[in-house]
Amino acid sequence: MKFEDQRKLMIQQQIERRGIVDPRVLEAFYKVERHLFVDEDARHLAYNDSPLGIGSGQTISQPYIVALMMELADVQPDHKVLEIGTGSGYQTALLAEIAKEVYTVERIHVLIERAKILLQELGYENIFYKSGDGTRGWEGSFPVCKEFDRIIVSAAAPEVPASLIEQLAIGGKLVIPAGQRSFQELILVERKENGYEETRHGGCTFVPLIGEEGWHEY
Ligand code: SAM
Repeated sequence: MKFEDQRKLMIQQQIERRGIVDPRVLEAFYKVERHLFVDEDARHLAYNDSPLGIGSGQTISQPYIVALMMELADVQPDHKVLEIGTGSGYQTALLAEIAKEVYTVERIHVLIERAKILLQELGYENIFYKSGDGTRGWEGSFPVCKEFDRIIVSAAAPEVPASLIEQLAIGGKLVIPAGQRSFQELILVERKENGYEETRHGGCTFVPLIGEEGWHEY
């Protein structure tokens, strides 16, 4: 089956059928070619209902969980989005389809370099890249941005990093898997005028967020 047809089936059977309805999210999933973000020898698996290895012991997440995080985040076209855990760059591309600007951070240098080359080849001009520890957010990076409308963390933290909370704008939303190292819950933090509200959205399993405000090395 052609990749385009596989992609349509993935969206219908794995994403829409499980309740994702945000038209912007669905349109982004139609546009971004997931098979380009995995190694050539794994391309035939790119539209499967599962995560896949991307090298350096890391994964591109299961399509549905990416869609769920994006629907919870409710990204709008005028938003500045901070993404922690670039990985393959797949979710970065999905976010860049919707948001005004995406600021993405990855701690493994080879991964962010590879993602950057691919995303630039694909023509994305609204993405800024940082190689390093994303538990401290975009702190000290260029272009300067001190507050984000949305923050999406795609690696599992023991708890929500304080630095990320601080970089969330009023009215902002942060989505993060947090809990134990082997199993987490998907958490949505919303910053209101007078504080923060936290809701939980089901169990999940992500690779660990490793850094100053995350887990320590393996
Ligand atoms: N969203 C990505 C995609 O579409 O391919 C998948 C991300 S993968 C599940 C999680 C990524 O988070 C890994 O590439 C890992 O190296 C990265 N990571 C872990 N700790 C990090 C940290 N402190 N700062 C930035 N990235 C981190």
